[in-house]
Amino acid sequence: METVTYLAVAAVGLLFGSFTNVIIARIPHGESVVTPSSHCPRCGHRLGVLDLVPVLSWLFLKGKCRYCQEAISIRYPAVELLTAALFMGVFLRWGISAYTLAGWALTVILVSSAFIDLDEGIIPDVITIPGVVLGLVVSFVTIGFFPALWGALAFGGVLFLVAVISKGGMGGGDVKLAAVIGSFTGLPGAFITLLLSSFLGAVYGVTLMLVGRAGRKTPVKFGPFLAVAAYTAYLFAREIIAWYMGLW
Ligand SMILES: [Zn+2]
Repeated sequence: METVTYLAVAAVGLLFGSFTNVIIARIPHGESVVTPSSHCPRCGHRLGVLDLVPVLSWLFLKGKCRYCQEAISIRYPAVELLTAALFMGVFLRWGISAYTLAGWALTVILVSSAFIDLDEGIIPDVITIPGVVLGLVVSFVTIGFFPALWGALAFGGVLFLVAVISKGGMGGGDVKLAAVIGSFTGLPGAFITLLLSSFLGAVYGVTLMLVGRAGRKTPVKFGPFLAVAAYTAYLFAREIIAWYMGLW
């Protein structure tokens, strides 16, 4: 593949990373991601095109608002770089295909859900419900409608049971995010996501307990683990299953 193709993928990833920042900042507060145009959260000054160039504007402005000098969190360029890297990973795995476009959409959903969960302890319906619909729609050109439907119902259903049994230890947002993931990955990917996210969540929880930062009842935000596991499954479900079968 030519260099220009990779540069284009990186640019698209950075732009969607910038959009992901807007989703993370606005959706939990019930604001539109379209209007008003981007502005400094402190002084309210409208941002110009030069202020909105992903990563570079943050570097040139040394992490400060051009108008009021308020510090701009390093998380903005970090989310942009992360999204671009994840877009590149999807492209390297799936090439020029419908799977790549679907994977990019899933990436934006996963990154924004994970950060909103970290910030606010919720995963908003305005992300997950359109996310399931999108997953089912794109399945017509990827894994097929019924595999996507079964993936969504099974994974959402399993986490719904966990939520009921744990009496709120698992949130409704996690249940709906699981349905989104299942609609994009189908059953095999959903199964891997379930195992991997549980494993990561358990390792994290036990670590917190060992260092005395948490007790058995401390709720763990599960969204970020679902996101990491789902991304991994979307790229490597086949290899992981082959490896697992080889163990027997
Ligand atoms: Zn400002």
